[in-house]
Amino acid sequence: MRRREDRPEFAVAVAAVTAVDLPEVPAGTVMQFAAADWYPSPRRHAEHDVTVVVAAVYRQELAGRIWVRGHVCSWHEPDCGTSACWEYQVHTSAVRAQLGGGR
Ligand SMILES: [Zn+2]
Repeated sequence: MRRREDRPEFAVAVAAVTAVDLPEVPAGTVMQFAAADWYPSPRRHAEHDVTVVVAAVYRQELAGRIWVRGHVCSWHEPDCGTSACWEYQVHTSAVRAQLGGGR
């Protein structure tokens, strides 16, 4: 019988993804990410800052980044009619800095 650990792709996934040590982020938290803090695609920095009303922060970290989903349609009252209109990778340190009350 072949064990899971023998499969190289499984070993890589376990090594790369770790549970993130971060306080809970309540839905509705407003966060601002500088262009250098988030990624519209895995290998490309964003070109503008963004203000996000957080819907959820994923609890798994990959290469120093976590997925954040939320809204950019309205700062005060999301009105796009979806559960989240923004979902991208963000530097964990950027999220952590804002939970600490500033950067
Ligand atoms: Zn929205």
